[in-house]
Amino acid sequence: MACNASRPRLVGSGGATEIVMLGLVMVVLLQTAPRGVTPWLLRLFPARGRPLMDLDRAKTVEPFAARPKPERGSEILVVEGATKRFGGLTAVNGVSFDLKAGEILGVIGPNGAGKSTLFNLLTGISPATAGEIRYRGDRIERMASRRIARLGVARTFQHVLLRSDMSALENVAVGAHLRSDRGYLSALLRLDRREEEKLLAEAMRQLERVGLAHLAQEPAGSLALGQQRILEIARALAADPALLLLDEPAAGLRFKEKQELADLLSKLREEGVAVLVVEHDMNFVMNLVDRLVVISFGQKICEGVPSHVQNDVAVQEAYLGVAA
Ligand code: ADP
Ligand code: MG
Repeated sequence: MACNASRPRLVGSGGATEIVMLGLVMVVLLQTAPRGVTPWLLRLFPARGRPLMDLDRAKTVEPFAARPKPERGSEILVVEGATKRFGGLTAVNGVSFDLKAGEILGVIGPNGAGKSTLFNLLTGISPATAGEIRYRGDRIERMASRRIARLGVARTFQHVLLRSDMSALENVAVGAHLRSDRGYLSALLRLDRREEEKLLAEAMRQLERVGLAHLAQEPAGSLALGQQRILEIARALAADPALLLLDEPAAGLRFKEKQELADLLSKLREEGVAVLVVEHDMNFVMNLVDRLVVISFGQKICEGVPSHVQNDVAVQEAYLGVAA
């Protein structure tokens, strides 16, 4: 007996078995379901019944108040000597240009020229070191990004930033939350059903506007890259912007997807939205924009209509040896 008692056991007594088993279950779960068991359960028991929102229902929900839009052709953005320094590096160096409502302005330049940094200054992601940026008369060069967004400036980023496990509809609803006076969380946690309906209906209307209404209930991560980029634009549009900034929206898209994107941006221009677009694909840019600003090493080296910019010697030099 004494001999038996001292023999090492595989699992101990007094609750040790449970701990070991629990540990094993945790290992298996972490290996096979790192995002939790909900996706499993949803696959086993797919949600039935009414979708969160559909087009017919969206039409019956009272929309958020629309922002008063600037008159077509009126000045919406004025950038004067915008400068951003990172220590010894001047990423944006005294850049000036303006933009009117209902105009598409392209910003082009080699990699590292400072285009994304310029976008960050315009959207309050980082404050300008010097210079002035005026949006509809308000100085925004050092304003917080949330306030700038509330004024009607929306953007997409160079790399797709979506919640891939959330539906397309919910991703777009996130973009509308700034228009709600209740806050997105309280709506999403269903503390306020009416507000939640308004957010989802707005998201549905924007999905229809960009031609993705049929994919509203799909997880964003399951969409093709081109659709994800358009979905990001829908999310930006849900904020009811007067100025839309797109950082390389055509990157990685196939020919047909690029055409669809160009059609959408032309449609937005018709509606009077001002669009600022950074893009590398020259064919895409040249056929779409009204004017171009060319940046190289942080400085504006040329500005004008596409045909003028194409023939500019400084621009050709800046691009020499750089894949456009
Ligand atoms: P582009 O979008 O035209 O390719 P970026 O605006 O991303 O160029 O970058 C311009 C320059 O600024 C690059 O040299 C880059 O390394 C630098 N830069 C960008 N952001 C930062 C940062 N947060 N800190 C330091 N340097 C930065
Ligand atoms: Mg960039």
